[in-house]
Amino acid sequence: MPNDATAVDALLDAAPCGFLSFTDDGTIRASNAMLRDMVGGDRDQLIGERVESILNVGSRIFYQTHFFPLLKLHGRAEEIFLLLRAKNGDDVATLCNAVRRERGGEWVTDCVFIRVHERQKFEDALLRAKKAAEDAQQVADEQRRQVQDANDQLERQALELELSQQQLLDQADELEAQSEELLRQRAIADDANRAKSAFLATMSHELRTPLNAIGGYVQLLELGIQGPITDAQADALGRIARSQRHLLRLINDLLNLARIEAGRVDYNLEPSALKDIADAILPMVEPQLSARRIHCEVNVPPDLTVMADREKAQQILLNLLSNATKFTPADGSVTISGAPDHEQPDRICLEVRDTGMGIPAERLAHVFEPFVQVDDSHARRAEGTGLGLAISRDLARGMGGDLTARSDVGVGSSFTLTLPRAVPVP
Ligand code: ADP
Repeated sequence: MPNDATAVDALLDAAPCGFLSFTDDGTIRASNAMLRDMVGGDRDQLIGERVESILNVGSRIFYQTHFFPLLKLHGRAEEIFLLLRAKNGDDVATLCNAVRRERGGEWVTDCVFIRVHERQKFEDALLRAKKAAEDAQQVADEQRRQVQDANDQLERQALELELSQQQLLDQADELEAQSEELLRQRAIADDANRAKSAFLATMSHELRTPLNAIGGYVQLLELGIQGPITDAQADALGRIARSQRHLLRLINDLLNLARIEAGRVDYNLEPSALKDIADAILPMVEPQLSARRIHCEVNVPPDLTVMADREKAQQILLNLLSNATKFTPADGSVTISGAPDHEQPDRICLEVRDTGMGIPAERLAHVFEPFVQVDDSHARRAEGTGLGLAISRDLARGMGGDLTARSDVGVGSSFTLTLPRAVPVP
């Protein structure tokens, strides 16, 4: 007669499910035939083994983190899916019910395992579906992130645009303020200039009247009308007369300049033959030229016609010729030549060239400024006012032309008056 334990073992072996019993430290105490069949191995091999040795890796972790803690907490666990690990390496899918209880002075867990075949397939399919869902979610997340990035970038660009628009607006405001300020300053400068010109014009007029009187009385004295004069007195009167003439010239020039600057000069522009202008002026300078034995050559073709105010063109030429005479030593030469402008076909040039002392390059740029005289010596100053070239250039520009200068020290100077051609170039 088999004893009770053997009978129970036989019954357990015959049960249609796997049976396993293990202690709290995981040591296997008992198993039945079905379980051994599932994992492969005999009874003696399993007893004393650790329960983890018959679980696959995932189930082993699950056993430690969930299954056993659950048993300790509730004393039982039902329908737990576990993958057993067969000796040949196969995974065996099972559902497990377990009960933990005290027996013979120690805590023991008894489990039954029922094989499941379909569930594994479903779980696999579920896992695959879950994986696909996760992948799709990842793609969606990535796309959402890209959209978000693009959105962020757009927002940044919009902000930048707004900023630069604001900057532009600020700059425009600043420019407007600056141009308003410029206009205001220009208005102030114009006012000041007008006041200066008006003052000069008035003063020049007021000064001319007594100066003319001085000149007149000197002449009367020189003529002996008031009685005979001594040689010394005649000499003194000569000096007074020269100073009076110089002052008068200076004041006349000042008056002219003030008028031009105040825009109070009218230009009577008409076609004029350049040769006529030269011919009208030459007799005026001939006495000085011959007094200094300066040879004068005129080369102005008769067919050159300029659009100019004849009187003003003559005034310019007179100034250029008197300068050339003044600053050219005896036996030198002065050449007056007219020709079409090579660079601007609608202009005509009248050049006055001398073989005089010349003007140093650093002073040349300033000779057109009022009161500039290259030679500052008193003797030179007495001869001129330093206003002639300033007036001449203003007049030339007033007629739509210009006045320019070139010079080589010790070789000579050349002043060129450019005027618009009268007949338009076809
Ligand atoms: P002014 O002759 O009355 O002094 P200008 O304005 O006509 O005044 O000339 C300014 C200065 O330019 C002169 O003082 C002189 O120093 C210089 N200058 C003008 N023309 C000549 C020239 N042909 N040769 C040398 N220097 C000249």
